[in-house]
Amino acid sequence: MARYIFITGGVVSSLGKGLMAASLAALLQARGFKVRIRKFDPYLNVDPGTMSPYQHGEVYVTDDGAETDLDLGHYERFTGVSAHQGDNITSGRVYRDIIAKERRGDYLGATVQVIPHVTDAIKEFALADTDDLDFILCEFGGTVGDIEGLPFIEAIRQLRNEMGREQTCAIHVTLVPYVSAAGELKTKPTQHSVRELTSLGVQPDVLLCRCEHPLPEGERRKIALFCNVRPEAVIPALDASSIYAVPLQYHREGLDAEVLRHFGLEAPSPNLARWNDIIDRYQNPEGEVTIGVVGKYVGLPDAYKSLNEALVHGGMANRVKVNIRWIDAEIFEQDESDIAAQLEPMHGILVPGGFGVRGSEGKIASVRFARERKVPFFGICLGMQMACVEGARAVGIEGASSTEFGETKEPVVGIITEWMSKEGLQKRGADTDLGGTMRLGAYEARLAANSHVSSVYSGATAISERHRHRYEVNGAYKDPLEKGGLIFSGMSPDGLLPEIVERPDHPWFIGVQFHPELKSKPFDPHPLFASFIQAALHQSRLV
Ligand code: GLN
Repeated sequence: MARYIFITGGVVSSLGKGLMAASLAALLQARGFKVRIRKFDPYLNVDPGTMSPYQHGEVYVTDDGAETDLDLGHYERFTGVSAHQGDNITSGRVYRDIIAKERRGDYLGATVQVIPHVTDAIKEFALADTDDLDFILCEFGGTVGDIEGLPFIEAIRQLRNEMGREQTCAIHVTLVPYVSAAGELKTKPTQHSVRELTSLGVQPDVLLCRCEHPLPEGERRKIALFCNVRPEAVIPALDASSIYAVPLQYHREGLDAEVLRHFGLEAPSPNLARWNDIIDRYQNPEGEVTIGVVGKYVGLPDAYKSLNEALVHGGMANRVKVNIRWIDAEIFEQDESDIAAQLEPMHGILVPGGFGVRGSEGKIASVRFARERKVPFFGICLGMQMACVEGARAVGIEGASSTEFGETKEPVVGIITEWMSKEGLQKRGADTDLGGTMRLGAYEARLAANSHVSSVYSGATAISERHRHRYEVNGAYKDPLEKGGLIFSGMSPDGLLPEIVERPDHPWFIGVQFHPELKSKPFDPHPLFASFIQAALHQSRLV
């Protein structure tokens, strides 16, 4: 039977629980165990799909089309295990399902309550689909003490009781702040947080203490004493130079050894060759390139989390450092002369995914700059759509636009109303609900033989990539766009939906309707990012 590791956070949010879970999973994997990580989010949205990236960072999409928390991206990047629908649950989804059952009469007259109905639903979710796994790591969003998190902590308490302490391990991630006036690290917030957790019936087994300064032995013992854990189970977690250094760092601090000791398990030392290679590539680059990302949510790096990481991976593949300049597309709408000033120093220009009209003209202007100046250009989702709108305007189709931005006489990009999926024909209208109704998840694309993109994918003619969009490039504009040099080199298997466009007369100009950044891993950089960074490196030698 799979063993469970429950990860909660205390004192403050943003302690990096997701990275911690991903790193521990990677370490257990490196010792030969089969792992899966799940995220439990206490908020009332059914999923993060309808939340602004400014609220919650990027929405991470799985192969099976779930719109999930960005921590699932870390899980995949660190373990290579593809996440799915069943790996992220929110209070909203739990309540939606319970209320639907109640309306159907499934509770046979019972009063429906937080305990047992909500807690049972949380437990069922934790226990589902665990075949041949050694460890399930369950990360709980929020901070211990939050009202909305209480049913989740209660579910942990019950699960530990039912499964037995030896089958489960509770890890609490806390902060040990440094008070400069006193020149000391303070353990009191950790003590309070553990007391809160214990009062809810969950005694942690391991404490992971985030701190900016090394934790002196005395403080470690004090935390152990007051929090009722072994001193060895108080693991200091200092800030790391890169997120990819975290598994190695936690291993040095003894995290995986302590977790195995808790379970009474013997295991070979972890094979960390993969992580050592990643860090070597990251820390010893042989050159550098600068990529301009022209987008809308540039004020919050988490809004483009996977994109940021995929660019770093592309750098690792080429052994170069990638400097990312986040550029607000709107500034190009105010002052055209800014475009050259901002974009000339860039070795590559990337227009990422996004929603809504704001900044769209600035993105289109960036595409034009990249096309005319022959700077490597990578358009992702909305970025590909903008490349097509720009291409249409370049061949004289005046007023070319997307119906996402309002009515237009030249809908080069329009709403998708029908498409084929594995589940059959999908139909949507302009007035459908916004939540969970986009073209979501993995879809196949067929690549034209001898196209640039097929060579990037090592000669493949069929690929599968993840999607998240409501609009698509309008096939009716294929002829004029292709005459203007923008070739449709990837299509959906039924030949109806444009998936990839490219310019053969340009050193590197590719637009993709999907999100390749979601599948990139540090140990397996996505080919499109590896190739784009290679082109940028070439460009850096020209300028
Ligand atoms: N807003 C566009 C659409 O819905 C692009 C979406 C995206 O970039 N993910 O089609």
